[in-house]
Amino acid sequence: MKTVLITGAAGFLGSHLCDRFIKEGFRVIGMDNLITGNLKNIEHLFPLKEFTFYNHDVSNFVHVPGKLDYILHFASPASPIDYLKIPIQTLKVGSLGTHNLLGLAKAKGARILVASTSEVYGDPLVHPQTEEYWGNVNPIGPRGVYDEAKRFQEAITMAYHRFHGVETRIVRIFNTYGPRMRLNDGRVIPAFIGQALRGEDLTVFGDGRQTRSFCYVDDQVEGIYRLLMSDYSRPVNIGNPDEISIRDFAEEIIKLTGTDQKVVYKPLPINDPMQRQPDITLAKEILGWEPKVSRQEGLKITYDYFKSLPKEVLYQREHNSFEEYIKR
Ligand code: UDP
Repeated sequence: MKTVLITGAAGFLGSHLCDRFIKEGFRVIGMDNLITGNLKNIEHLFPLKEFTFYNHDVSNFVHVPGKLDYILHFASPASPIDYLKIPIQTLKVGSLGTHNLLGLAKAKGARILVASTSEVYGDPLVHPQTEEYWGNVNPIGPRGVYDEAKRFQEAITMAYHRFHGVETRIVRIFNTYGPRMRLNDGRVIPAFIGQALRGEDLTVFGDGRQTRSFCYVDDQVEGIYRLLMSDYSRPVNIGNPDEISIRDFAEEIIKLTGTDQKVVYKPLPINDPMQRQPDITLAKEILGWEPKVSRQEGLKITYDYFKSLPKEVLYQREHNSFEEYIKR
């Protein structure tokens, strides 16, 4: 039986990865310090003897007993509100955390896949974004703590690969959504669905002409699984190229939820990328992967999930207001 360590196991993507590797017959060791993760996402795995959980912050030395075949490093805050609330932890987990896990991979002879991001492209001047593009990132802006930590993560991962011969994989994840996202972390999909469920107006930032391309979680997990099992060590974009403006997306949510909410416009956060769409030619070529779930299907599943949550979750605020978020 192969063993995989998944960091950020109690988070959105981490928990879906735990499910997938259990399903594939792996022994799964989940690790999380629960800053932004939630044990509810993995509580169904606790009774399984193939699943172990460590409450640990990977920015500190990581010890795992026994053999390890694979490591997936998915521990990191991942929403612009989190970067403002916990900037130092965000920097540390992408840099020190990655260093610790690369060291663990080297010691155990394990293959490691690190979760990078479309944020390495910043506010991109090349569209759609190919893996060759080096990006347009403001290192000292509010998103800099995440973007630069992830860029450093890619650099140190390639260094361990080249210098120590560690088997490494780098996935550049574009906006991904689905059940188990945090309802109130400020990201646009939970934000809009939460607003619709509470009967509030939908808050579009800026003029809403900025674009994003949303990938359903099952497609993302499939891409990550294939990349881990491939022999390709350079970064690969995984995302859905179906691009939409945030303004049109708000209208789509209103239609989906059958509510009669209005759209209200609020100031655009600093360094909010104006356009984002993955070029997935490489993933198609080397992994034979492309997304299968349409936005309509994926959003319906996600909406049903959020609707099924207890009412009090809907009203739990993680930040005082988005005005506060924007002005910082
Ligand atoms: N956004 C918005 N209203 C919200 C939350 C987000 O218009 O209530 C916008 C945000 O400014 C950005 C886009 O939606 O242009 C996606 O935001 P998200 O935080 O989900 O992801 P990211 O900016 O990291 O892609």
